Amino acid sequence: LFSGPISFLKSAPQLQFLPDPKVPEIAFAGRSNVGKSSLINAMTNRNGLARTSNTPGRTQELNFFDIGDPLIFRICDMPGYGYAKAPPKVVQKWRFLINDYLRGRAVLKRTFVLIDSRHGIKPVDEEVMEMLDKAAVSYRVVLTKADKVKQEELDVTAAKVAEISKKHPAAHPDLLLTSSEKKQGIDELRLAVLEAVQS
Ligand code: GDP
Repeated sequence: LFSGPISFLKSAPQLQFLPDPKVPEIAFAGRSNVGKSSLINAMTNRNGLARTSNTPGRTQELNFFDIGDPLIFRICDMPGYGYAKAPPKVVQKWRFLINDYLRGRAVLKRTFVLIDSRHGIKPVDEEVMEMLDKAAVSYRVVLTKADKVKQEELDVTAAKVAEISKKHPAAHPDLLLTSSEKKQGIDELRLAVLEAVQS
C-alpha cells in the first residue's frame, strides 16, 4: 500500500481549500505531541513526510497526502489539539474546521484517534470522539509511544481506553498499540488503514 509514490498534496486552512473528494480519505487526529507525525512517517516509511505540530504555520490546517500513483487514497493529517497555551479563538477555529470537515466529507472512510500511552484518554480526546460519533465517522483508537510505559501500565491504560471506547457508538472496539520508535504495531496499523480504504 505504501510502497508506491507518496507526496504532500496541500494544506487546507479552511474548507474551501479541501482537495476534490475523488478518492477515499483516512484521517489521523490526536493531541499535540501525541506522536502523530512520527506515526504517519513510520507507517509510510517516509521520514519527514508529516512534520511535527510544532512547525509554525501548519498547526491549524488539514494536511493532505496523496498515496499511490495512480492515486489510491489520501491521508488527512488533522491539526493537533489540546495545546494548553492555545488562545480560545484558535481552539474555536479548530473546532469549526474539524466539525465541518467530519460532517461534510463523504469520502472520509475512517479516522484514527491517537492517544499517548502515558496519558490515556483526556477530556479533549473524548470531545473529539463525540464529534466523530455525531458525524457518524467510524474511528479507531491508536495508543502511541507504547515503548514509553511498562507492560503492566500499558495493559491498564489499554483496558481503560477500551472501556471508554465501548461507550462511543462510532468507535471500533479494538485498539491498536504502537511505537514509532520501536516500529511496533506499524504493520497492524497499515492493515487497518488498508481495511478502511477498502470499506
Ligand atoms: P505530533 O506533535 O503529534 O506530530 O508528535 P511528534 O511525532 O512530533 O512526536 C512528539 C515527540 O514524541 C517527539 O519528540 C518524538 O520523538 C516523540 N515520539 C513520537 N513517537 C514516539 C514513540 O513511539 N516512542 C517514543 N519514545 N517517542 C516518540
